[in-house]
Amino acid sequence: MNHYIGPEEILRKKREYLIPCAYHFYNQPMQLVRGKMQYLYDSTGKEYLDCFAGVSVVNCGHCNPEITKAICDQVNTLQHTCTIYLTENIVNLAEQLAQLTPGRLQKTFFCSSGSEANEGAALLASLYTGSSEFISLRQGLHGRTKLGMSLTGLSMWRTDNTPVGGITFAPNAYCYRCPFDKKYPECDLACANEIETIIKTATSGKVAAMFVEPIQGNGGMITPPLDYFKRVKSILDAYGILLIADEVQTGFGRTGTFFAMEQYDVEADIMTMAKALANGTPVGAFTARAEIADVYTRPGASTLGGNPVTAAASLATLNYLTKHDLPGKAAVLGKILKDGLTVLQQKHPIIGDVRGLGLMIGVELVYSDKTPAIKETDLILEEMKNRGILVGKNGPNRNVLAFQPPLVITTEDLHRLLNNLDDVLSSIKI
Ligand code: PLP
Repeated sequence: MNHYIGPEEILRKKREYLIPCAYHFYNQPMQLVRGKMQYLYDSTGKEYLDCFAGVSVVNCGHCNPEITKAICDQVNTLQHTCTIYLTENIVNLAEQLAQLTPGRLQKTFFCSSGSEANEGAALLASLYTGSSEFISLRQGLHGRTKLGMSLTGLSMWRTDNTPVGGITFAPNAYCYRCPFDKKYPECDLACANEIETIIKTATSGKVAAMFVEPIQGNGGMITPPLDYFKRVKSILDAYGILLIADEVQTGFGRTGTFFAMEQYDVEADIMTMAKALANGTPVGAFTARAEIADVYTRPGASTLGGNPVTAAASLATLNYLTKHDLPGKAAVLGKILKDGLTVLQQKHPIIGDVRGLGLMIGVELVYSDKTPAIKETDLILEEMKNRGILVGKNGPNRNVLAFQPPLVITTEDLHRLLNNLDDVLSSIKI
């Protein structure tokens, strides 16, 4: 029988020994101790259906046996070397990413997190273009490092009040609260068109790159119309500005295709990845077109970036995603979930908007005047947890329920989620 210290003691030690920025959900947190595919278990043995996947990380499920085996085999054989020694895993992984990423993306740099991947992508864009100006989207999130935070358009995640200069923000494609008060498609993508005005009026004209998330995860699952990125790319191309697609949260089957940009039918110049690439072991990467990548010739290696263990985990993850067609499953299951949530929207006026692609779906909770229902979002999260279902939340006002389960979730699990959510919403008074 395991002895766990329990949630109260964890909270005490957290207060004592962790820097207070460490952020957690729930007024009454549980101590999670075990995971098995789409399920998590706490120290009392209670089971939870995980509908958040550690923020879109364990796309292949918790402790997936095939991936765990690959990790253990590698740990028992060769635990660490970095890219200064050539190992088979790392080049095989880079080759697979070249095959799986859309378009001409070909050459990869490995690091350990999404923030680092975005830092690296920005460096590469600067080396290639000779500029260190960037455009980013409001409500985007690109990391926790100095530059990552400066590129982030969400005040909650921008602790740094001396951000890096040369970054200009553009309005995002937030159709539910259109920054131009227009409706799609009559708007003619005013938010995308605005980028050209911004380039002309708020930058030097020589901009290295624009950072975008295909769906803004932390920003509240903001899902642009399917013709949005084509318009953005054509504007950027006209000014020689690179497009950096941050697929840290949307990648690896999450949205119903291997990468979300495939659905927008747009080829990014650089793509950044992390989270689900190694199904929960720490890896980050950016992949670029060869012509761009080839300007980065000075020595550059990340000590822990893509070491043999995370590379083995990544290879096993890519194999599992492909073998079980998890992107295809995410498309089918995502439709069931989105349709079910849309039905709930007819019944519960607190649901203002349902949006997303595949198994990356957001439900924005609002009062009748469309102001964010923040308190109720927390109540729903807590009550769903009590019922053994873990849901996320995000958005600038933290009033968007986030559904990003492991892609191995089943139709029955989704019906259980929808039935419980229906009950919980019925009990909420607004
Ligand atoms: N980019 C996006 C879209 C993210 O969602 C995140 C993290 O949530 C990051 C970058 C930063 O990744 P990491 O936490 O691995 O540094």
